[in-house]
Amino acid sequence: MNHPVVDREICGYCGACVSVCPDNAIELVDLHVRRDESRCTLCLACVEVCPLGAMKLNAESGTSHARRAEYQAPDIKQKRCDVLVIGGGPGGSLAAKTAAEQNVDVLMVEKRQEIGSPVRCAEAVSARPLAELIEPDPKWVSAEINGGRIYVPDGNFVEVENPGVGLVLDRKAFDRELANQAAQSGAEIWIKARAIDLIKNNGSIEGAIIRRWDGDYRVQAKVVIAADGIESQVGKWAGIDTTCETSGVDTCAQYLMTGLGDKFDGFCHFYLGHEIAPRGYAWIFPKGNDCANVGVGIGGHVTHETAIEYLDRFVEKEAPNSSVLGMVVGCVPASGELSDIVRDGFMIIGDAAHQNDPVSGGGILNSMIAGQIAGEVAGQAIRNGDVSRKSLEEYPKRWHKQIGRTFRPLRKIREGVLGFSDETLNDICRMLTQKDLKKLSMLDIFWGALKREPRLLLQLRHLIKLGWAQLIDP
Ligand SMILES: Cc1cc2nc3c(=O)[nH]c(=O)nc-3n(C[C@H](O)[C@H](O)[C@H](O)COP(=O)(O)OP(=O)(O)OC[C@H]3O[C@@H](n4cnc5c(N)ncnc54)[C@H](O)[C@@H]3O)c2cc1C
Ligand code: SF4
Ligand code: SF4
Repeated sequence: MNHPVVDREICGYCGACVSVCPDNAIELVDLHVRRDESRCTLCLACVEVCPLGAMKLNAESGTSHARRAEYQAPDIKQKRCDVLVIGGGPGGSLAAKTAAEQNVDVLMVEKRQEIGSPVRCAEAVSARPLAELIEPDPKWVSAEINGGRIYVPDGNFVEVENPGVGLVLDRKAFDRELANQAAQSGAEIWIKARAIDLIKNNGSIEGAIIRRWDGDYRVQAKVVIAADGIESQVGKWAGIDTTCETSGVDTCAQYLMTGLGDKFDGFCHFYLGHEIAPRGYAWIFPKGNDCANVGVGIGGHVTHETAIEYLDRFVEKEAPNSSVLGMVVGCVPASGELSDIVRDGFMIIGDAAHQNDPVSGGGILNSMIAGQIAGEVAGQAIRNGDVSRKSLEEYPKRWHKQIGRTFRPLRKIREGVLGFSDETLNDICRMLTQKDLKKLSMLDIFWGALKREPRLLLQLRHLIKLGWAQLIDP
């Protein structure tokens, strides 16, 4: 029987395989993937989605792995807090900071040994909404962005200038600063501390078992916030199916490159086309200092080649004679948010709740906003003495009102654009470059695309509901 096995020399520790496993048979432990054969039903979703081809079929797979350790170890230590946040990414840190600001006792646990590292991101954000969450600081900004260029397969591009519209972050410094602010607000932070199970009582979540370098802790908490990112398992432990479909994720590979000169500076560059990035896009985001993040994201169910193979081809064409300083692999949920994200004493936020923008896959801002709302709701619920599911439902309600309600039309936009043939993309680009973008309505784009592909009529009717401005400055 063929079994999936991980080639550890290749694995980039991205969590894509964990996110699509329907049987909770894989986990990331420190810097390696552990697969539990007794749980595996051989669906092969993990093999399909791996951006590096590190998860392979191997008939000789004899690796036997220990199951997750039982948490009632005899020497388990005890700890209490009001709010336990699992995961120290942007979502977790904002949740911890916001809850701590309400004078409740907060513990945030992060399994990595260093907050923010390794980076798993292309680091681009819209400047305006970010400034509403944290005061911009040059120490975690790599470059300012003054617009976007969207390239179509024939090499033409549409340029939209919008001074100060975006930032390319230094995620390592940024994530560390967010955690720092959570700590300054009173949250306790543990690193190298991995949640391995939840504590449940009659269906309510009452804490988690945390495995730290110095042993296991039984952490009793009034509210647990799962902010454990793309490789999330905590939701599943709470009985919520957080599995991504392979067709609902983008699997990505990216190089940090140097030697590109200044021709990409000041703009984020997006490349569309079925040869370049099937069911996705390629990008070049300048980071200043002659460096840029150069990446490709493809549909998770595109199986004939891996993301890294598309990236190598893209780099050969767009950035020859430059050098690679680093590699990032990973995957982003792109099919829209989970609707079931609350239980008694429990909430899921950020990538773990698939709250990424359905068009771009970006999730930094959304996870921060979700963290902020969940932190506020948790603090309020604890002060009111009611952490029931009903009370915590305030979080998804507010999230939906602020962000989630835009997801349905955005998903339709994504499907519409991904449905365009390369020829249609070229035509639309030609049409856009002939007109003044500010005067162009969605209707113009709609009719241009429709002339080429009338079958898109059904999908594209959703585009009209949104303005062009939202597309270029989300
Ligand atoms: C290649 C790539 C490019 C991207 N580019 C962009 C971009 O340009 N712009 C953008 O906005 N977004 C981008 N994203 C998405 C963005 O990185 C995420 O949306 C964002 O980091 C989500 O934040 P989060 O807090 O939800 O999760 P994360 O940042 O993933 O944080 C989750 C944390 O939880 C920890 N954790 C997991 N399990 C446990 C456990 N059991 N116990 C303790 N800790 C645990 C993890 O170690 C991790 O630190 C990109 C993603 C990828 C893969
Ligand atoms: S994704 Fe499928 S094949 Fe891979 S470990 Fe999980 S159950 Fe097994
Ligand atoms: S999907 Fe990511 S974590 Fe899983 S085997 Fe491939 S590179 Fe490693």
